[in-house]
Amino acid sequence: MEKAYEGHVLVLPYPSQGHINPLLQFAKRLVSKGLKATIATTHYTLSSISAPFITVEPISDGFDHGGFAQAQSADVFLESFKSNGSRTLTQLIKKHQTTKNPITCVVYDSFFPWALEVAKENGILGAPFFTNSAAVSSIFSRIHGGMLRVPVRLEDCPVVLPGVPPLNLEDLPSFLNAPESYPAYLKMKLNQFSNLEKADWIFCNSFRSLEPEVVKGIGEQWSAKLIGPMVPSAYLDGRIEGDKGYGASLWKPLNHECTKWLETKPQNSVIYVSFGSMVSLTQQEMEEIAYGLQESRFDFLWVVKDSETHKLPKGFLESTKEKGMIVNWCNQLEILAHSSVGCFVTHCGWNSTLEGLSLGVPMIGVPKWADQMTDAKFIQDVWGVGVRVKVDSNIGIVKREELVSCLNKVMNEGGKSLQMEKNAGKWKELAKEAISEGGSSDIAIDEFLVALKGFCI
Ligand code: UDP
Repeated sequence: MEKAYEGHVLVLPYPSQGHINPLLQFAKRLVSKGLKATIATTHYTLSSISAPFITVEPISDGFDHGGFAQAQSADVFLESFKSNGSRTLTQLIKKHQTTKNPITCVVYDSFFPWALEVAKENGILGAPFFTNSAAVSSIFSRIHGGMLRVPVRLEDCPVVLPGVPPLNLEDLPSFLNAPESYPAYLKMKLNQFSNLEKADWIFCNSFRSLEPEVVKGIGEQWSAKLIGPMVPSAYLDGRIEGDKGYGASLWKPLNHECTKWLETKPQNSVIYVSFGSMVSLTQQEMEEIAYGLQESRFDFLWVVKDSETHKLPKGFLESTKEKGMIVNWCNQLEILAHSSVGCFVTHCGWNSTLEGLSLGVPMIGVPKWADQMTDAKFIQDVWGVGVRVKVDSNIGIVKREELVSCLNKVMNEGGKSLQMEKNAGKWKELAKEAISEGGSSDIAIDEFLVALKGFCI
């Protein structure tokens, strides 16, 4: 007997590294459970994605030759994405309608609520995927629901979420206390909730034991299925073989060189430093970090994009040849999984945070904007896997002495601080448990698949 049709999920990420990675990983999980999944992405990110059994199809944001960089502003980009994206997503769904694998559900980045309208117009299911933590999404959902005003002021603080230490201004997503700095992004964050009541499911890249009270507390306000961490399974299983990367890289990673260099270093001795794919530091910030790393007693591997290296102190690259390595881009997971890495200096993007937690690497949080502030708070005060740097109030940035002091706190005599190491090991186990067969995230995905199958019958 022929197998009943189980469905075809079209996954639509926002076209940046930190969004493509988790949504692509989600598509891969669906495929590993026997479903058909297709990624729809912009023309200029198309060739950066390559994963087994995943079809990649183009969609237009209206800037097909360079994307965001070509738009005059974030507002213009998002508006253009909405109109061109709706049109081309409709075409894509229709193109598949007459095939033997018609699309039955669109799982879209929560930044694109218009994708739900397109799904409904075409008579199929739709589900947003939130790429932030449940805590961060619940903060935005409170604002959307009128329970918290924007801008959040000193007198509105602390903001109290269930099971979370009180959040002060500096712990809240940066869009909230300075909404005038990024009006388009704040609008986009609040728009995520604009038509949620019509969504068939809501997904969030987190896992139940990581934010249990937050999830319990938000309930009706924003009830998401927690299906993370969306980290390739080989890392969570500790396997050498298997799913070792996301399958997407907007820059060329220099991993062979990095690993070769790491092999020459003792266990837990190297500091890995990365500010993710979007943060751009000022020259003064770069200098303080560079001198902090140089003055510390530790070796370091630092991701500095080619476009940013001019901000490094003069002669820095030459003077740190033995002690440090600087690369334009790497496969971060492979580096974090390397036994020579003892600490992760991170901007606290949600993927980096989840990766640090899932691979059991203690962290030093240097948050710069957006949800990074809240993630840094959790890293230090909720999960106990690291420390957050203090910004010097006179110059508004982190001074080199502060970085050195944090490094000494996290790296204990060349190893990791014992308590942080213990906590990091615990989160690593819980992350693995969540996505393993029968774990909370695995069950949540299975429930989705069963419901999807029901829709196809
Ligand atoms: N990343 C990488 N190589 C690098 C730096 C970052 O592969 O050299 C990946 C990292 O593993 C993560 C993503 O890029 O999955 C960045 O996402 P995150 O949410 O941490 O930060 P964003 O770039 O969105 O600010």
